[in-house]
Parts: sequence; C-alpha cells; structure tokens
Amino acid sequence: MAVDHFYFHPLTEEYEFGPKHPLRPERLRRTRRLLSELGVALIQPEEALLSKIQKVHSEDYIEVVRTPSKFGWERLAKHGLGSGDCPVFPRMFESTLAYCSCAIAAAKAVVTGAPRGYNIAGGLHHAFRSRAAGFCIFNDPALAINELLARWDRVAYVDIDVHHGDGVQKIFEDDPRVLCCSIHQDGRTLFPGTGSPAETGPLFNGINVICPPETGAAAWLYGFREGILPALERFQPQALVIQHGTDSHFDDPLARVRNTVQSWLAAVSDLRRMDLPKVILGGGGYRLECVPRMWVAAILTHEGLKVPEFLPETLGQEWGTPTFLDRENPYDPNVGQREIESVVNYLREFVHPKVA
Ligand SMILES: [Zn+2]
Repeated sequence: MAVDHFYFHPLTEEYEFGPKHPLRPERLRRTRRLLSELGVALIQPEEALLSKIQKVHSEDYIEVVRTPSKFGWERLAKHGLGSGDCPVFPRMFESTLAYCSCAIAAAKAVVTGAPRGYNIAGGLHHAFRSRAAGFCIFNDPALAINELLARWDRVAYVDIDVHHGDGVQKIFEDDPRVLCCSIHQDGRTLFPGTGSPAETGPLFNGINVICPPETGAAAWLYGFREGILPALERFQPQALVIQHGTDSHFDDPLARVRNTVQSWLAAVSDLRRMDLPKVILGGGGYRLECVPRMWVAAILTHEGLKVPEFLPETLGQEWGTPTFLDRENPYDPNVGQREIESVVNYLREFVHPKVA
C-alpha cells in the first residue's frame, strides 16, 4: 500500500511515563508493525527547529522539559510535570521533540502540495503553552496548525478523541483563522473537565459537542454530523488538522462512551469527503486491541482504500483481534441521543450562526 508522507520517528516509542502508565508505546509499536505488514513506508523527519516550538510554548517551559533535573519539584509542578499524569521520564525532551518533528514535517508536506501528511504518534491535544497535562507535553496539533497558517488563513482542527481538545482550543481561542471542533465525553464526568457547548471562546471559534457517559455509536455519530459538520460548512476551511483519538471506543478503559469502530470510521469518511489538504494525527486510545486497527483503518479510509475484513493473520492471532471492524456491539447505539439532540439544538441556535 503506497501512503506518502507518513512520518515516524523511533524515539516516539520512548515517550513513556512509566510501566504502569496507560499511555503505552506498545500502541505505536503495534501500529507500526501493522503498517509495515501492509507495506507502508515510514519516513523519519528532520528534527524540528526550536523556533517552531517557541511559537507555541513559552521559553521557560521548554527549558524545564529540556533539562528537568536542573529544576526543583516546585518548578516542575508549576509546569504540570512530575505529578501522576505527567511524571518526568528519561529522554523526555528528545521523545517529545520526535513527535513534534513528525507533526511539523507532515504539515510542511501538506503546505508544499501533498494532499495528506501523517503523524500517528501525535495528537497530544492537552498540552498548554506553559504546562503539560493529560499525558501531553508539547502540543503537536498546534504546531501543525501553525505550519498550515503559513500558507492558508482558514484552518480547521477536528478532534474526535473522547477527551476535550482543551489545549488546542486555548492556544487558538484568540485567532480567527482557526476553528477548533471537538466531540467528547461531557467534562462534568471526564478529564479535563472543560469543553461545554457554551465554551465557544470570544470569537465563536470553539465548537464543542458533549456526549453523556454511555453514549452509543449512533448517537455519537449524530453529534458529530449535526454538531461539527455544519460548523465546518460555515467556516469553509482551506485545510484540516484531524486528531484521531480512538478512546471513544466502547472497550476503552479510560472513558465511558460506547462508540464502535464503524461509527468512528463513518466520521473519518465524512472528513475524507471534504476535499481539503489534511494533516492526520493520532491521539488517545488505551485498549491495545483497538488502537492499531482503528488507526490503520482510518489511514486506509483517508487514502480512499477499502478497509479489509481481516488483519494479517499472524498479527490478528497474536493480538486476539482478527478483524478491523467490530464484529458485534454489546451496547445500545441510541443511548444519549436525546441529550445530544439538545446539545445540537443549542449549537444550531446560538453557535453555528456566529461561525464566520
Ligand atoms: Zn483521549
């Protein structure tokens, strides 16, 4: 399978907060193995310039990430490091820079004419300007958006991770060139606690669809199609950055949305049909049996290729997941429909008309 501009750096597999932390590099290793079975060539990007990182993150924060041993715990804590979510780990700066380099390279490819650029190790959407949060140290979606803004002045960010894309929204809340869309589990019931539909930002460039816990696959897709697509239609972006968190899947251990691979992929297909240049990022997802097959199915979908029924046999057997799609959905797909309809009605009345 020929996929151009697929950036991958081996150091991203050293981005590991510790053996008991849910963000396991095994997610990336399995994805890489599956891609190489399918014949996808991975390109190692050049190292990102520090000046690019400095456009998104403050210099004192970058310095703390670069040499954490030079600073005391209070200083680390001020920047969100050293706590449960983001403990300091060996080669933290190098592995963080690695996924940022992939995002910048993918975006640069798109700026110079490629239809798509990929960074599956990225999508670390919770990082703020001066603070790590939710397993994210630097914000590679923001770095990718900045690259695209060098050529275009209307860029949309679409985040289908089960957690609110709070860092990206915050970084661009004052920038009318960027629309930030996120569909996620209601922040009153899940980290990071933000992302209510009323949280539009002063420019109405924040579009948030919330799903109650136990939201089913059909209700989730309804929220995506009626909450996010009309905002994109109004905004008329020239390029997209898409965060492909897989953690809305019903089997994910960190959240309680009951999405299926099929419904999630239907949203990916909708985005594919928007004939725009795209930077395609990974994201959250903590069930090893789900993440690689969902990401690879998304990549195939973006490339306009059919998702095969079965994984290569050896991998399917080894991982206990023979098929790309879910073979059954143990949950009611319509749970949450009524609540999401009221969110959509609110967006239609108060938010979509102000998107410009
Ligand atoms: Zn997530």
